[in-house]
Amino acid sequence: MKILIGGVVHETNTFANVKTDVAAFKQWEWSRGEEVMQNRGVRNYIGGMIAQAEKLSIEIEPLFSTFAYPSGIITAKTHDTLIDHLLKRLKQAEDYDAIVLSLHGAGVSERSEDLEGTILQEVRDVVGVDVPIVVTLDLHANMTQKMVDLADIILGNHLYPHTDSYEIGLEAVEVAQKIVEGTLKPTMHLEMLPLIIPTSTTNMGPAKEVNEWCYDAEENKDIIDCTFYHGFPYTNISRLGVSVLVTTNNDAKLAQETAEAVGQSIWQKREQFLQKPLSPKEGIKQALAHDGKPVVINETSDNPGAGTPGDGTYLLKAMTENHLTDACYAFIYDPEVAQQAVEAGIGATIDIKLGGKTDHLHGEPLDMTVYVKAIADGIFKKSTPMGRGEKVDLGTSVRFLYNGVDIIVCSKKSQVFDDEIFKLLGIDVRKYKIVGLKSSQHFRAGFEHLSSKIITVDSPGLSTFDFTTFDFTNLKTKLYPLNDVTYE
Ligand SMILES: [Zn+2]
Repeated sequence: MKILIGGVVHETNTFANVKTDVAAFKQWEWSRGEEVMQNRGVRNYIGGMIAQAEKLSIEIEPLFSTFAYPSGIITAKTHDTLIDHLLKRLKQAEDYDAIVLSLHGAGVSERSEDLEGTILQEVRDVVGVDVPIVVTLDLHANMTQKMVDLADIILGNHLYPHTDSYEIGLEAVEVAQKIVEGTLKPTMHLEMLPLIIPTSTTNMGPAKEVNEWCYDAEENKDIIDCTFYHGFPYTNISRLGVSVLVTTNNDAKLAQETAEAVGQSIWQKREQFLQKPLSPKEGIKQALAHDGKPVVINETSDNPGAGTPGDGTYLLKAMTENHLTDACYAFIYDPEVAQQAVEAGIGATIDIKLGGKTDHLHGEPLDMTVYVKAIADGIFKKSTPMGRGEKVDLGTSVRFLYNGVDIIVCSKKSQVFDDEIFKLLGIDVRKYKIVGLKSSQHFRAGFEHLSSKIITVDSPGLSTFDFTTFDFTNLKTKLYPLNDVTYE
C-alpha cells in the first residue's frame, strides 16, 4: 500500500492588518517532496502520519507541507502558489492508494473563505472519486459541509492545548489503511451550532465535560470518532463557530443522532463558555495576593497563536508600573529593538520604544531605559508535549532588565508554549513570583506543571474574549452570544 502525505496549515485572523504571503509560510514550514520527512519523530500531525505508515509498512510519497504562523488573510497570489505546489506533485504521483492531508480548517484567503474546502475540491478533481482522502484538522476549524462532502474522513484534535496532534496523525493513517482494505466505510454527520466561544481549554470546565460525552459516544464500536470543534471566532466570514462531527462505520442515522445529541448538550452549556477575565492590573493584584510562586499571567488578548501582532503592551506596561521585584515576561515581538540591543551590546543601557508598532489596538509603544542583560539566537526545540522536538527559531532574542521585570524581546512573533525561550536567556521561571506571557491556552501544556497558579488577563486585542469589539460584516447567520438565537 502507498499513501501520499502533505499539508497546508493556516489559521487566519481576518481582522489582522498584516496579510499572509508566501514569505510568511517560508518563514515557518515550506517542505517540498522529501523535505516533508523532516517531521519524522516530531510530535505533530505529519510526524504521526510518518510514524504510523512506517509501523504498518505503508510506503509514503511526501508531496508538499507548509505552515505559516496565524496571521491576516492569505493573499490571492499566495493561495495560488500553495495550491500549485500541492497539485504539481500530486499530478506526478502514481500508483497510490490514498492521500492523507494535514489541514487546519480556519484558513481564509482572498480567493476563498473556506481554504480547506477549496483545497479538497482541487485535490478531489485530481485523484477522482475512488481514492480515499483522509484529513486531519485543528480543533479550531470552522467546519463546512463542503469539507465533509469532499473528504472520506476528517479527524480533529480533541484536546486544547493540542497535545494529541501526533495521535491524530497516527489515527489518520490507520483509518486510511482500513478504508483501502474495505473494512471501514466512514459516514460523517456535521452538526453546526449557531455559537461562538472564546478559547476554552479542555483541561477543565465545560469543554472538558463535552469531551467526556464524546468519549462516551466513542465507546460504541460503530462510532469511529466524535469531535467537538470549537471553531475560530476571529474571522469575518459568512459562517463560523462551534460544530460537532461524528463519524460512524456506515451508519448515517447513528452519526446524525449522536452529533445532534452532543450539539444539544453543548448548546445547554453555552453560557458557561462565556468567561469574564481580569484586566492586567487586577491580574497582577491577584497574583501578588497569592501564596506561592510562580504565578503565570497569560495575556489572552494578544495571542500570536490566534493571528495577533504579538507586540501588544498592555500586560507588560501594567507589570512595569507595579513596583514588582521578581517578575519576568516573554515576549514582545520587536525586531527593531532586538537589533538595537545587539548594536549596543551586553552590559549597555539603552533607550528603547518597545512594542505597540503593528497597529493601534494592542497598546502604545513603551518608552524605557533598559539594561541589556543577555542576547541569544532565539533557536531551541520545543519541550512542551504539544509539538515536542519541533525546532523553533525566534530570531535575535534579547533579555532586558527594567523596573523589576526581566523582559524578553524576540524578532519573530509566536505565542509562548513552554519555558524554553526563558531558559535560552538564562531565566529559571520557577524562581520568579510573576511570569507574564502571551498565549490563550496552549501554554498550559508547558506551564501547568511548574506554576503555582494561572491567571488569565484580557484587554483590547485581536484575540480578546470580548466578541462585541469585532465587526462581523460578512456573517450570514445569527450567532450566540452576539445575537438572540434559537437552536433546535
Ligand atoms: Zn487550534
